[in-house]
Amino acid sequence: MAYSYEAPVSQSLFDRASVVTPGGVNSPVRAFRAVGGTPRFMVSGTGPYLTDADGREYVDLVCSWGPMILGHSHPEVIAAVQEAVSRGTSFGTPGEGEVALAEEIVARIEPVEQVRLVSSGTEATMSAIRLARGFTGRAKVVKFAGCYHGHVDALLAAAGSGVATFGLPDTPGVTGATAGDTVVLPYNDLDAVRAAFAAHPGEIACVITEASPGNMGVVPPADGFNAGLKELCAANGALYISDEVMTGFRTSKAGWYGVDGVRPDLMTFGKVMGGGFPAAAFGGRGDVMAHLAPAGPVYQAGTLSGNPIATAAGLAQLRLLDDAAYAKIDAVSAELRSLVDDALSKEGVAHTVSAASNMFSVFFTDQPVRDYEDAKKQDVFRFTAFFHSMLEQGVYLPPSAFESWFVSTAHDERAVERIAAALPAAARAASEATA
Ligand code: PLP
Repeated sequence: MAYSYEAPVSQSLFDRASVVTPGGVNSPVRAFRAVGGTPRFMVSGTGPYLTDADGREYVDLVCSWGPMILGHSHPEVIAAVQEAVSRGTSFGTPGEGEVALAEEIVARIEPVEQVRLVSSGTEATMSAIRLARGFTGRAKVVKFAGCYHGHVDALLAAAGSGVATFGLPDTPGVTGATAGDTVVLPYNDLDAVRAAFAAHPGEIACVITEASPGNMGVVPPADGFNAGLKELCAANGALYISDEVMTGFRTSKAGWYGVDGVRPDLMTFGKVMGGGFPAAAFGGRGDVMAHLAPAGPVYQAGTLSGNPIATAAGLAQLRLLDDAAYAKIDAVSAELRSLVDDALSKEGVAHTVSAASNMFSVFFTDQPVRDYEDAKKQDVFRFTAFFHSMLEQGVYLPPSAFESWFVSTAHDERAVERIAAALPAAARAASEATA
């Protein structure tokens, strides 16, 4: 499909990038391959807006895939960064900023007794799994199809279905041996988890799940699912790892734990806690974390872990995220969900607006979506048409039908009005789209 509107400067940057970088991007979804067209190269962001290299302004509903929960260039975050950077950029020694950030995380999230800072969500989940294996002396990891935990080799196994099926590597470069210790199960299916424990007695180190998945679109856990996972893990000597890289400090002050109160053994964080810088973390039970080097034998390290600029940005952002901030984000999210729902309903487009706290996405199907198989049944071609119409009208959505939309405290009335004005034409485009 061709798209009529132009972005010549972005296109020329993309052409240059494609010469020196595989696919022209440093993270695949950015290339727009799922929706086609020219990826927009952004040059600046202020509040809820992004400006691209062609000088066009967009209302941003991606928020850097979650981190920019206060909007772009929040003055207090920028000031904290400027203050920190004026003292140097990295020391490779302990520093007070990382202590303060760890204290803030521990204070907010009760199950986290100790926390280790790292630089990406991928590092956090990779390290949490290593720690779970080291702590339990077991090899196997249970994950759910459609959950994304970063590009950790063992967690890229998402193929395979049914009880006790070993995951097949989803990508060349991940060996069968690595993926063979990963058991992939359908999401929201406690019977499948029960059967996996029965099939592999004494072998499963941990179950890792997105606290509330946002990487197959937003598919919240069914009532009792997370509590059931916790119970099954406890009964079988495995650790329950809740991946809160996306939900952490976003879905409430204490992330998804603040919503469902199910107490994980280990948790992983990223995105919001870095204030737009590379900072992430894993933490949890003190007796488990005590196995981590140098306190214990499980090795984990990082040259830039606890980087002073990243910790200053993250801390400044977290300190601004009070009850009023979450109330505001929740309200904007609810308003947008209802606007999208109305616009699509008016055009008779089959859809489901799926929400988990203030995270949401739109599935172009009217059937219930409880797992990845359901999510894949939507009319993706309708999303593509909807996405391009919104983009053309200055609203930047995630360039995939399988991603969460994100809002911030900066999404004010003017930004919402701009989205509302774009929706009727986008809904019409979705309704007229053909496969
Ligand atoms: N876990 C979840 C739930 C995520 O959504 C992501 C990234 O989107 C990751 C882990 C990986 O984080 P990163 O991209 O910082 O490596």
